[in-house]
Amino acid sequence: MKNTARFRHFVAEFTRLAEKNGNDEQVMLDAGSKLLTDLITHDDWLPEECAQPHPQFYQQYLLHCDPLERFSVVSFVWGPGQKTPVHDHMVWGMVGMMRGAESCHRFESPAAGKPMKPSATERLHPGAVDRVSPTIGDIHEVANAYDDRVSISIHVYGANIGAVKRHVFDPATGVDKPFVSGYSSPLLPNFWDRSAEVRATLTPAA
Ligand code: FE
Repeated sequence: MKNTARFRHFVAEFTRLAEKNGNDEQVMLDAGSKLLTDLITHDDWLPEECAQPHPQFYQQYLLHCDPLERFSVVSFVWGPGQKTPVHDHMVWGMVGMMRGAESCHRFESPAAGKPMKPSATERLHPGAVDRVSPTIGDIHEVANAYDDRVSISIHVYGANIGAVKRHVFDPATGVDKPFVSGYSSPLLPNFWDRSAEVRATLTPAA
């Protein structure tokens, strides 16, 4: 049995945070990364169907979208050696490492016709949370750090990220192309079936 209560708690707390501080990126990132850290340091809640790799493409399973689209939560499942193109987000985002490891290469904003400059490289281990946004640096390339196993990270973004107009970049020339990521599945996992715990509280009929 997956600990679905853990994810419901995360969504409830994040919703309260968005209600109070949704327009303050710094607060969303600071308080939000604490909530995300707590979620990813307990790997007991992610449904199996949202942990499945694809032989060719990294997978993005939507776990929750706030009904007002103030935030979304996505599980990224990286097959061995899979990686993103160089891309941006256009909103704040957090990458929380849960299983395996990722390498993240950050880039400076491109100058027309010139190769893009890498600004930082880091390796994320389970429990680590990385941040992106147009104000703190929004362009990166993310890869599974392993070429022989699956890695999984849980991402939170300040919008319905699959439907945001963003960009991918050619790092050799800095030329960008429009990009809308979408999601890998038309279905959402069901974290909300609490019937077993409620049935357990029923007193048997006399
Ligand atoms: Fe990204």
